[in-house]
Amino acid sequence: MKPVLLLLFCGKTVVLVLQGVRWLLQGHDVQVVSTIYSTRAASRMVAGQLGMALSADPTPPPTPGSIVLHQYDFVNREADVQQAVTDLLARVKDGQLHVLLDEALFGSNVYGPRNTTLVARLAESVPGLHLWAAGVLHTDIPPSLQPEPLTVPLRCAPSVLREVQPAVGRLTARIHNYSDSGVPAPGDGLRVIRLSHHGNAHRGRWPVECQQCGKEVAAELLRLGVGSGGSSLPNSPTPLSYRDVVIITRSSELQDDIEDDAGRVTSRASGVVRGLRDEGLPVCVLGEQDYRHNRARWERDVDDVAVAATDRVTVTHLDCVHGLERRVVVMLPGRHKETDEGRSDEAIDVDDRLYAVSRCSTQLIMVDVPRRKCVVS
Ligand SMILES: [Zn+2]
Repeated sequence: MKPVLLLLFCGKTVVLVLQGVRWLLQGHDVQVVSTIYSTRAASRMVAGQLGMALSADPTPPPTPGSIVLHQYDFVNREADVQQAVTDLLARVKDGQLHVLLDEALFGSNVYGPRNTTLVARLAESVPGLHLWAAGVLHTDIPPSLQPEPLTVPLRCAPSVLREVQPAVGRLTARIHNYSDSGVPAPGDGLRVIRLSHHGNAHRGRWPVECQQCGKEVAAELLRLGVGSGGSSLPNSPTPLSYRDVVIITRSSELQDDIEDDAGRVTSRASGVVRGLRDEGLPVCVLGEQDYRHNRARWERDVDDVAVAATDRVTVTHLDCVHGLERRVVVMLPGRHKETDEGRSDEAIDVDDRLYAVSRCSTQLIMVDVPRRKCVVS
């Protein structure tokens, strides 16, 4: 049997964790593999959840498997592909190898072929390969994998899914549409909250640049009870912490304060970050500029965000946190200077909604931008 590939956008990490726990309880070691920096957080989260599930098992087996996390940089280091093959083959036991690969994105023109090579080499070399990969467009399936489309949304409320369904059917053939779970949802979920980057106090072309948008997002989060020890979400009374919130954007302009080696700020944080802080919210920023200029801080923060160690709101470029899920997700529209060049506003809008919905378990907040500002230069 070929290794299995999972295709879905909402709940796939949960399925990977469940499968990993099953392997561990059967006594198999589980290899959690991150091939690019943007999947680091997701893979650390999967490994962490496997560990928690194992220790919480009331009747653990006498010899459960162990969890091994492998981290590579396929984008910047081609030699890492061979290193990953070598490392994983060294973990084969009795002809078997159990691998979890989240956010595989085989169709990515940067690292997709390298992920495909890794999977093909393992499939050739290990007869007992059990590899579950998730986060894949169904047009980009490597021949060495057997697709198992999972279209039942496991985590999102119906009202949140409605945000994306029409667009998926109309605009893209790259993912399967969601299907009915066959199980009644506990409720329709919450309405999607809409804010607008529009009006006199708003500055800049996109919400990322706008201090006022930061203040208005902060006000909405505080209204929901974030950080107050309570929650005003009708179907979700568990208190909302800052760590339950992620603010996502595709904008390449997002950044925290950029500092030189002496600790002097050479470039101020994005407007939205300043606005959030003005309202007293503790904020962790994971922007592309932070990765370039403050790599050590970025690495520490990704590790921290992966396990929600510090109680902070995360503001992040969507590529920095593939696979992370939070109760409250805020989507800030924007454009990436390089990867969005030549793409239509409509296609970008669909991608934004997919990313936002797939990371949201309870409350979605969309910041709308008037169409006159939605032009890619
Ligand atoms: Zn604004």
